[in-house]
Amino acid sequence: MRELDATANGWRARCGDHVIDAGAVVLAAGGRCWRVAEERGELCTNHPGATGEVTQIAADLGAELRDFDALQYHPNGGAWPPNMQGYSIPETTRAYGAVLLNADREEFTDSLGPRDEVSRAIVDEVANGKGVETEDGRPAVYLDTTRIAQHDADVSLPYMLRRYRAGGIDPLREPILTYPVLHYQNGGLVIDTNATTTIDGMYACGEIAGGTHGRNRMMGNSLLECCVFGRRAGRAAAEGARA
Ligand SMILES: Cc1cc2nc3c(=O)[nH]c(=O)nc-3n(C[C@H](O)[C@H](O)[C@H](O)COP(=O)(O)OP(=O)(O)OC[C@H]3O[C@@H](n4cnc5c(N)ncnc54)[C@H](O)[C@@H]3O)c2cc1C
Repeated sequence: MRELDATANGWRARCGDHVIDAGAVVLAAGGRCWRVAEERGELCTNHPGATGEVTQIAADLGAELRDFDALQYHPNGGAWPPNMQGYSIPETTRAYGAVLLNADREEFTDSLGPRDEVSRAIVDEVANGKGVETEDGRPAVYLDTTRIAQHDADVSLPYMLRRYRAGGIDPLREPILTYPVLHYQNGGLVIDTNATTTIDGMYACGEIAGGTHGRNRMMGNSLLECCVFGRRAGRAAAEGARA
C-alpha cells in the first residue's frame, strides 16, 4: 500500500495500479527496523519489507503513536562470516552455556541478562576499546559457543551449526563474532483492546502496533501479539464495516 484516504463509506487504498475500497482497514505492515538499519549503516535481523511507510501513512492521517523511538536491538547479531551478518544468533546458545567474552577473552557481563542490558554491555565494551573487529572492519565481541555441549547443539541448534559451518566456521570449535543488531520496533500505532487505532474504522495488529510490550519487549512473545490482536482486529473490522 502506498496511499490511504478516508472516503464517505470507509477507506480507499492504492498500491500501483491497484485500488481497493473498504469499509474498514486493518494495518499489519510490520515494523521499520530494516529501513532504520540501512539509514544507520547497521546490520539488522529483519526482512527488506520492514520499511515502516504504512505507519507514516497512518500517522499522517492523524493516528496516534506511542513509544515510537523505542527500537530493540537483539544482543547477538551475527557479525562474521558474511553469510551470517544480521543473523539473530539464538538466545538458546547462551542458555546452553555460551558466554560473551571481550578481546582479552574475559567475561564482561551476565550473558543471560535481558536483551537491552546485554546489548548495552556489548556496545560499552567495544566503546571502551575491549572489542574485536571483523575482517570487514565491523565491531564485535566473542560469543564462546565452544562451551555448548555437542549433544545440546545437535538437538537444539542444528540450523545455526549448519549455517556457520557453511560459512567456514564451526561454533563448537571456535568462538563466533557477535554485535547487537536492530531487531524489533517496540512502539507503534496506539490501539485499544480491540486493536482499534485512534481513528475510527482503522485497526492495527502485529509489530506496527505499539503498547503490548511497553518500551522494552522480552524475547519470544511477539507472535502472540500478532495472533491475539490479528484475531481481534479482524473481528472488530468485520463488525465495524457491517455497522
Ligand atoms: C529473525 C527474527 C526472529 C524472530 N523470532 C521471534 C520469535 O522467536 N518469537 C517471537 O514471538 N517473535 C520473533 N520475532 C519477531 C516477530 O517475528 C515479528 O515481530 C513478527 O513477525 C511481525 O509480524 P507482522 O505481521 O507484524 O510484520 P511482518 O511479518 O513484517 O509482515 C508485514 C508485511 O507487510 C508487508 N508490507 C510492509 N510495508 C508494506 C506496504 N507499504 N504495502 C504492502 N505491504 C507492506 C511486508 O513486506 C510484510 O510482508 C522475530 C523476528 C525476526 C526478524
